Amino acid sequence: MADKPDARGRTVREEDLQAAVRAVEKSTVVCLSSHVNPDGDALGSLLGLTLALSAQGKAVYAALPRPEQFPPQYHFLPGREMLRDPEEIPEGADLFIALDCSNAERLEGLRPKAEGARFLVNVDHHEDNNLFGHLDLVDPGASSTSELVYRLLRAGGWESTPEVATCLYTGLVTDTGRFQHRNTSPEALAVASELAAAGADLALISREVYESQSLSYTRLVGRALERAEVLEDLGLVFSYITQRDLRETGASLPETEDLIDHLRTVRGTRVAAILKELEDGKVRVSLRSRDGAEVGPVARALGGGGHANAAGYTSDLDIEGSLARLLEVLRRGRHG
Ligand code: 5GP
Ligand code: MN
Repeated sequence: MADKPDARGRTVREEDLQAAVRAVEKSTVVCLSSHVNPDGDALGSLLGLTLALSAQGKAVYAALPRPEQFPPQYHFLPGREMLRDPEEIPEGADLFIALDCSNAERLEGLRPKAEGARFLVNVDHHEDNNLFGHLDLVDPGASSTSELVYRLLRAGGWESTPEVATCLYTGLVTDTGRFQHRNTSPEALAVASELAAAGADLALISREVYESQSLSYTRLVGRALERAEVLEDLGLVFSYITQRDLRETGASLPETEDLIDHLRTVRGTRVAAILKELEDGKVRVSLRSRDGAEVGPVARALGGGGHANAAGYTSDLDIEGSLARLLEVLRRGRHG
């Protein structure tokens, strides 16, 4: 893993932004997508760019690899009605822009269409991005992909309408944990300020993203928190939810994106893990770190990826087996 080229230390130069602007300007059809299990930044960057490029008169084809995964707390985002089914994305398009994807596999079924486009632009801020585009606008120092999209709009002189600003601000606020994580740079705050000035609806975003949970999901949080355990030797706090929990509470998996944030508040821990049983029996594991611990390498060792502070992977084992594997990797990381 150590020798794999990745995005560490990269930034996005003005000439790269200008190259992306030229690619958009010469294309009639622009296809856009972001990663499976989309979060606020995947959705905000996708919809913000979709709206902005449509306003430039481009024929924009935007889709999520799995439309059914659109989390309900983001239904308020402007531009959602513009998303199409993945099958409608044309093959061999002039231009395909992948957003918030550290590698092309994150596009799942849309990967062949991305790789088959005449020009592929990769806009992302994951440090493990493997630079899969013809042009890579990849900056691990950026708070979010939405921040990079904002830089692109500025470079193109393309307007950030209030709707675009609402989408991009959502990406910033969610990927920085409401401007609390270490990726909350002066630049991120400056962009947030410009988005607020452009008309982003900050109060709406806070209410919809953080204060509109279903009662079912609130009960599910109760179950997960009640079961939480701390392993002091590893500085780990973990919990899990099963398909049965989902059935009994009536909550849905896409609603559970911020469940991990409840766990990571436990004092004295360095890593939080939540294991979620999927319909097919596999387990999605989300990891978050505190106090400078790095979970990216842990997720990569288990077949996934992500940032130093937030990472994830999917395990073929059941919950118990997945937990045992995770503990093994954490122990190994600790002792050598
Ligand atoms: P989450 O726990 O919210 O699903 O993911 C946290 C972070 O890790 C996100 O930045 C996400 O893109 C990344 N991530 C989650 N699962 C995977 C995976 O299976 N592969 C890769 N490469 N990244 C992942
Ligand atoms: Mn992101």
